[in-house]
Amino acid sequence: MAKQKSAFDQDQARQRVLKIFPILVKTYPGAKTELIHADAFQLLVATILSAQCTDDRVNLVTPELFRKYPGPKNFAQADPIQIEEAIRSTGFYRNKAKNIQGACRVLLDRFGGKVPRTMEELITLPGVGRKTANCILGNCYGQPAITCDTHVIRLSRRLELSDQSDPVKLEFDLMEVVPREKFGGWTLFSNVLIFHGRYTCKARKPDCDRCPIIEHCPCANRPDLW
Ligand code: SF4
Repeated sequence: MAKQKSAFDQDQARQRVLKIFPILVKTYPGAKTELIHADAFQLLVATILSAQCTDDRVNLVTPELFRKYPGPKNFAQADPIQIEEAIRSTGFYRNKAKNIQGACRVLLDRFGGKVPRTMEELITLPGVGRKTANCILGNCYGQPAITCDTHVIRLSRRLELSDQSDPVKLEFDLMEVVPREKFGGWTLFSNVLIFHGRYTCKARKPDCDRCPIIEHCPCANRPDLW
């Protein structure tokens, strides 16, 4: 059956966020990225690896990877084949190795080997788009940042916070309806949505009967809208 057109309304979306945000924060206290990392550099590499791959799979690979290549210089000077071998199980490993090595070279050439702290600079790194940049800005640098991953996109549409499927347009819609700082702000909002998408409001079979925000959800028990 064809999906009905979204009834997206910005004022309603704002009201809905004010209701669901505190509930989700209570349900997933302190939600943050599940990619294991010690600093912004490790999160940068881990997020590049997480494209089309689960966080669990990335977390299996990164401890040994960071032991072997502790910093940008080590990656930049490494044999690409060796990097590919080390990250093979995360999929798309040739492209990811190329991006990691390219990003490390840019870090060394332009940023003194440090991960920059602005969106404009971060997205100049190979393999880094707004999603990765926001993940780093929010989780490592404490800046308000909405990470629009697959869960955030799906849930924002189900909860009628946006009718966009393009992640960048959707991110800008969310900036309009989610408080920048209140309740934990943009960063925590996207992190609790990611947790909710991962553990309850799954892509194929959302567990509406156990959902703490069911009374505020326009899609509750409506498979035709999922
Ligand atoms: S009620 Fe169902 S569709 Fe709505 S957010 Fe909860 S799990 Fe997802």
